[in-house]
Amino acid sequence: MPPVTPGALRADLHTHSNASDGTAPPADVMAQAAQAGLDVVALTDHDTVAGHAPAAAALPPGLVLVPGMELSCRLAGHSVHLLAYLFDPADEELAAETEKIRTSRIDRARAMVRRLTELGAPVTWDQVARIADGGVVGRPHIARALAESGVVATPADAFTPEWIGSNGRAHVARYALDPARAVRLVAAAGGVSVLAHPHGEGRWAIPDVVIAELAEAGLTGLEIDHPLQGAAERARLCELAASLGLIASGGSDDHGALTGYRIGSEIAPEGSYQRLAERATGAVPVGG
Ligand SMILES: [Zn+2]
Ligand SMILES: [Zn+2]
Repeated sequence: MPPVTPGALRADLHTHSNASDGTAPPADVMAQAAQAGLDVVALTDHDTVAGHAPAAAALPPGLVLVPGMELSCRLAGHSVHLLAYLFDPADEELAAETEKIRTSRIDRARAMVRRLTELGAPVTWDQVARIADGGVVGRPHIARALAESGVVATPADAFTPEWIGSNGRAHVARYALDPARAVRLVAAAGGVSVLAHPHGEGRWAIPDVVIAELAEAGLTGLEIDHPLQGAAERARLCELAASLGLIASGGSDDHGALTGYRIGSEIAPEGSYQRLAERATGAVPVGG
């Protein structure tokens, strides 16, 4: 955890609930945020705003909720995640695109289950749907089904070439946004955008030239403090953010029981929440 100046706001700007592939309901995520001593928490489920209302309804006193979303993008065959905050949830174009992504996630999850069955893995769509429990279906739900059926020891073991890793035998691609277009969509909806885990371990390291192009398209910030980025990556990304005029941000990427990242284990650099919030016009933070 980075040192935090006494009195500075403690903000975790990247968390998931079971509205997407986290394991805790939005209300529990808010309670955990308060227990972790946070002042500000952003709920950034994949491609959905469904968790915002239950999170707001259960917001503990003194905690500020930043409504957000993590948008699924793809560039040159690589998955790219864009965090969006404080956009107008009623913006028609953004809502239509996220709906398209969610529908495509269901189609591709069904296709992946079919391939897994063909490969002899005893998983079913009903099982995956039960695990997703109404949340936006993602590979982590299929991974949990594979672990439940004893095909792999843990959900993490499913993300290999043998099963549902990005080059896996049962992997199926889905619809995703061009990241520059996503940046523009979020801006048009009055929101601000932060490129998630650009140099995350085990992920495609997004080249500087691409990040510069996204900055040109209106990107607001870069996620520096993320559990998949070590000290060297963070230092490099900090310099890059400064050179491109991007706000340095951070968050735990907590998914509940699914990952080891605990809410509040990463705190956004001092002032990043305020700088992001003051640039947004599509929505206002809740509570406080
Ligand atoms: Zn992500
Ligand atoms: Zn995330």
